[in-house]
Amino acid sequence: MLGLMQDWPLLCHRIIDHAATDHPGRPVISRSVEGPIHTTNYANVRKRALRVAQQLERAGIRPGDRVATLAWNTWRHLEAWYGIMGCGGVYHTVNPRLFAEQIVWIINHAEDRIVMTDLTFVPLLEKLADKLPKVERYIVMTDAANMPATALKNAVAYESWLAEGDGDYTWKRVDENDAAGMCYTSGTTGNPKGVVYSHRSNVLHSMMAAMPDAMNVSARSVVLPIVPMFHANCWGLALTSPMVGAAMIMPGAKLDGASVYELLDTYKVTFSAAVPTVWFGLLQHLEANNLKLPHLDKVTIGGSACPPAITQKFQDNYNVEVCHAWGMTEMSPLGTLGSLKPEYAHLKGDERLAIQAKQGAAPFGVEMKITDDKDKELPWDGKTFGRLKVRGPAVTRAYFKEDHAVLDGDGYFDTGDVATIDPHGYMQITDRSKDVIKSGGEWISSIDIENLAVGHPKVAEAAVIGVHHPKWDERPLLIVVPKKGQTITQDEMLGFMQGKIAKWWMPDDVTFVEEIPHTATGKILKTALREQFKDYVLPTAKAS
Ligand code: AMP
Repeated sequence: MLGLMQDWPLLCHRIIDHAATDHPGRPVISRSVEGPIHTTNYANVRKRALRVAQQLERAGIRPGDRVATLAWNTWRHLEAWYGIMGCGGVYHTVNPRLFAEQIVWIINHAEDRIVMTDLTFVPLLEKLADKLPKVERYIVMTDAANMPATALKNAVAYESWLAEGDGDYTWKRVDENDAAGMCYTSGTTGNPKGVVYSHRSNVLHSMMAAMPDAMNVSARSVVLPIVPMFHANCWGLALTSPMVGAAMIMPGAKLDGASVYELLDTYKVTFSAAVPTVWFGLLQHLEANNLKLPHLDKVTIGGSACPPAITQKFQDNYNVEVCHAWGMTEMSPLGTLGSLKPEYAHLKGDERLAIQAKQGAAPFGVEMKITDDKDKELPWDGKTFGRLKVRGPAVTRAYFKEDHAVLDGDGYFDTGDVATIDPHGYMQITDRSKDVIKSGGEWISSIDIENLAVGHPKVAEAAVIGVHHPKWDERPLLIVVPKKGQTITQDEMLGFMQGKIAKWWMPDDVTFVEEIPHTATGKILKTALREQFKDYVLPTAKAS
């Protein structure tokens, strides 16, 4: 027997319809790429998104066609997403921080027909355009007054282009399982892989992201999505905020501590989300200028492990709740979030920080398991490490143009992360499966050692890699970038760590460098470090 409820496909443009009908005047305030602050609201975002859809259709975009965006978080980028999806197209966020060859590769692989770009990236695209034969037109997201002279094919200023439409358009009625968006993962090896979100997965993921133990955003929230729309689907916030009617503050191109603080303070932001590096910048700015954060209630921190020092400062010095989160492009991207369940809510001080250092628990819509190399499920005891696998309606089943599913026999996706899960369902990443250090048949977590090392007041950044050892196979080498103007000795570093981790996890050596290489999304590039230190001889190796 079938249920007798209406068939109401879960389509992304319904989100902006809802925002424009039920929260029409809610502000969307952006730091424009041109400089000045720009203010609009959901009613106007929808009106202009309809024009984008109309204009794209006139330009020949048909359901399923990909439209690339190389753009910061602004109202124009938001309109573009809804306009692209609204005519049945697929928004393809291109991460401009990728290497030039990768950008070329993914635009060609996605077969993007139109590229919408911010002013910032016009010079970059001019250099690459010769290698992008399938792109028919470039739309520069600015007005006529700021439009540069450019040789980009059929280039037009977004505002002039929009003015040619009247917005008399009805959203394309597509299937909820049709593609809505695309984002390539910037793997550290091989070519990037295209992750394709559907309307349905985006809508369900947005509901998941809004839940109280997830991001907890509502119509009373003022949301500052610092995480770029080109990084892992903006962690859902470009869809979740209009879905709940939250005000949006869009930071544009300026993500330094002073600029972020200015927005937090001026617009009384209550919630924000970003990677740890951004928060480092903000906390330094606050400390140097003796500033406070009276309006901010909560921040979600993820993308890489959140050092407890950040959590502690936010909570103790600024009364801001930290929710450590883990996810990946392939998961739309939310996987786990670190809100405290009643079992942990009473904890204080270091005990609380230890739970918050975990990446958190899965919301409804994410199922997790950990397995050994033979695919045997491992216990949720908080100690046993295993490959982390996930299943859910917003988790990838296959990559673009790769026909085979990437799931195990039970439909789980292998995240490539290694983790423990405790009895209350809190997952803790101990490593990437490629980065885990295999010492005498046991696994050592490089991330745990890194977290400890960055807690040293003189350390700016730290990385741990496994280096060949004749007896133990691999042993940890700690690579440290001291803070500007500081010097640290090896003894000081090891002394600081002594007693805080298992003895056999202690690095066999410490080396100091000026800089650690990063991927385009700001993660430590372990492959490059392993290459750099491939002939490194540990003092313990010489002795054995
Ligand atoms: P991306 O798809 O670029 O967002 O990268 C996803 C990967 O980033 C995950 O598989 C993890 O290895 C890593 N990652 C994301 N969030 C965290 C976190 N909170 N702690 C540790 N690693 C993380």
